Amino acid sequence: MKEYKPEKIFVERGVEDSLITRNVLERLPEVPTERIESRESLLEESQRWTPTLSRTKKWLILAQYKGHFFKACPGTRAQKGIKNVCCNYFVINFASNCHMECSYCYLQSHLNFPYMIVYANSDDLLSELQRTFSENPHHLFRIGTGELADSLALDPLTSYSIPLVQFFAGQKNAILELKTKSNCVENLLDLEHEGRTVVSWSINPRFIQEKEEHKTATIRERFRAAKRCVRAGYPVAFHLDPMIFYGSWETDYEDLIEELFETIPATSMAWISIGSLRLTSQLKEIMRKRFPSSPLPLGELVPTEDGKMRYFKPIRVLMYRRVLGWIREKHPTIPVYACMERPDVWMKVFQSAPAEKELGEALVQFLV
Ligand code: SF4
Repeated sequence: MKEYKPEKIFVERGVEDSLITRNVLERLPEVPTERIESRESLLEESQRWTPTLSRTKKWLILAQYKGHFFKACPGTRAQKGIKNVCCNYFVINFASNCHMECSYCYLQSHLNFPYMIVYANSDDLLSELQRTFSENPHHLFRIGTGELADSLALDPLTSYSIPLVQFFAGQKNAILELKTKSNCVENLLDLEHEGRTVVSWSINPRFIQEKEEHKTATIRERFRAAKRCVRAGYPVAFHLDPMIFYGSWETDYEDLIEELFETIPATSMAWISIGSLRLTSQLKEIMRKRFPSSPLPLGELVPTEDGKMRYFKPIRVLMYRRVLGWIREKHPTIPVYACMERPDVWMKVFQSAPAEKELGEALVQFLV
């Protein structure tokens, strides 16, 4: 993985003395730092000279998040009557934006604040989580930090994983998932995690990683990092998402699954998810400009009811069935689920579609 080193750090008022701010400033003493009242001033400035996204990613803002860190995953069925099967996932947004450059990354069109932001008031985040878990003692929460940022890519600078993993180790009704395309697991290895943190990797065949997932850890590096986490006793998980349909997809995904099960013991795997490429028309435009050699926006994608374009349903079903078959040859019961897919796709792939909350609870029960 290409390590992140900002050209400039901005520290927002209110987080000057926080643990996360201290960690970052100690590790980057040579990077110019400026104190600012509010990050909004940077947004106004950038709107005047419209820098590129690659440029704004070079600025790191250590900010104070004043809203709710914790929310339901927006991929749920709650929006606009969309009927995707919901895995009852929750997210905490501890950071926003990512220095790695996957051509298909939805953050390119999703974020209206294009800088790298880390919300350094981690104490507020943990207090909010503690309140939520205490007020809902019978709810089993599965929570990820990877919605608006990679969970671990900045960890060598922030060490955000340390308070998070330690906090979840003491929780009875919650599991944390740290989802990454990095190999930054050093901070995790000596922590008391009590099996309450799942470390997970998005994986794709080498061909896709090399062509489309720029600056990320190689697949070999990701597997090596996963092995280290397994040795440290963590449950691990894998996301074959977004699966890409291309000439040699069948051989390449079969090889990837072969390598996965050769490298990682199935008994340490909490779950595997599958999902296919999803693009919006706005994201396609951005991809054409930022990654002109990527063939992904040229693929045959059709609009679906949540506003995203996907491969034709028969293609998605074919890919999922094949992958599920290869996984099942390796292990008959490991939990596998499809991300952001409708019940009719589930029926064709899994011969069943879980009811509301059933899937999320099944995934958490595996660990609690
Ligand atoms: S690693 Fe994840 S968040 Fe980062 S660019 Fe790639 S898809 Fe986006």
